[in-house]
Amino acid sequence: MELLQIPPGMETEAFAMGRGTLPETPELVRRFFQSRRPWIVADENTWKAAGTALYDILKAAGLDPHEPFIFPAVPMIHADNALTPRLTDAMPFDCVPVSVGGGTINDLVKRASAVTRHRYLCVPTAASVDGYTSYGAAMTDNGLKKTLPCLAPLVVAADTDVLKAAPAPMNASGYADLAAKVAGGADWVIADELGIEPIRADVWNLVQKDLRKWLSDPADIEAIFLGLAATGYSMQMYRESRPASGAEHMISHLWEMENLELEGVPVSHGFKVGIGTLASTALMEWLFDGHDAAWARANARPPRTEQERRAEVDELLSRGCYGAKTGEIAMGKFLAGDAMATRRELIFAHWDALVKRTAECLIPFDTLKAMFRAASCPTAPEDIGLGSDQFEHGILAAQLIRNRYTILDVLDELGLLREAADAVTMRMTGQP
Ligand SMILES: [Zn+2]
Repeated sequence: MELLQIPPGMETEAFAMGRGTLPETPELVRRFFQSRRPWIVADENTWKAAGTALYDILKAAGLDPHEPFIFPAVPMIHADNALTPRLTDAMPFDCVPVSVGGGTINDLVKRASAVTRHRYLCVPTAASVDGYTSYGAAMTDNGLKKTLPCLAPLVVAADTDVLKAAPAPMNASGYADLAAKVAGGADWVIADELGIEPIRADVWNLVQKDLRKWLSDPADIEAIFLGLAATGYSMQMYRESRPASGAEHMISHLWEMENLELEGVPVSHGFKVGIGTLASTALMEWLFDGHDAAWARANARPPRTEQERRAEVDELLSRGCYGAKTGEIAMGKFLAGDAMATRRELIFAHWDALVKRTAECLIPFDTLKAMFRAASCPTAPEDIGLGSDQFEHGILAAQLIRNRYTILDVLDELGLLREAADAVTMRMTGQP
């Protein structure tokens, strides 16, 4: 069996990928889990795709798997922490939890394993997300989408025949989640340039060095999975999702908390992120393209008072589905008085470098849109069921939900977020 190289010091100790990895899983269970009895968690679809075959393989190898836990396919389950007790209650003592599925199943098993102090084996069934190999589970907890702390899988066993057989939209979704690292990287560049969150070179290189290569062929599922896995490792290294996620993910989280659906089916993580990536790219182009520091100074709006800001926040969160703490987070990051004046001076002083460095990092909006089209990813808000109002609101409210510094904060601090969101909404929907 060929184990792929993973960076040293990871929580994940083995990463097997290739054709026919599934039949080699018993060896991984013996070597890394001391032959404890496997317990497969799947849903009805992923059980058919790989679960049942894996169960038979484990049984034939004498590993005596426990009765599997299979979620129904309909209604589709969400990665909601409220489901964790169902798994922790059902989990056999001293088993090897085996997640067989996409991002949702993996996050649920990851979380349940952390709560019960088990290490788990991840068997992905689609190249659909970067969360397989990441530290932490991206879940909704009491209504707020966040990353709950938990260890990454001890072992990942990715069978490329299984990945390639996944429904095409799932792998397209992974392509969009990988492309998000382009805009997310530019956000980190902004935070680095302003001295707010310096880039860590080893973490950065893991994601950014080969990113364009991984994205060069949307049919190369192996390359896309490698890119997604590397991104997951970068999050293990950094103990945070910053290397994988910027404004585009925050925007997508908004729609996630609104339970965005298209024709009654929840829109996949990657497709929401893909539209968020185009939006974030367009925001950066709107602010930086062809503008010098003098333009920024001349066009920045007067800073708002705390009272004015609170009224804005209340209005943006009036739908009430964004978790109890969001208002606090939003006001906690608001800079008033001298602090705001100092921040704005910092932005103006670093303006030329911001323009140059973000342009080097980004794929231009039109190029990215063509890449998404070629990969069968959505390219317009309406493709994922978003009207222009909900799309624009997502951009505006995304700035409120997390402390991570992004293009949304630069725009907000210059008083230009609404104007930029208007322009990007016009560009992407053709409607004001
Ligand atoms: Zn993602």
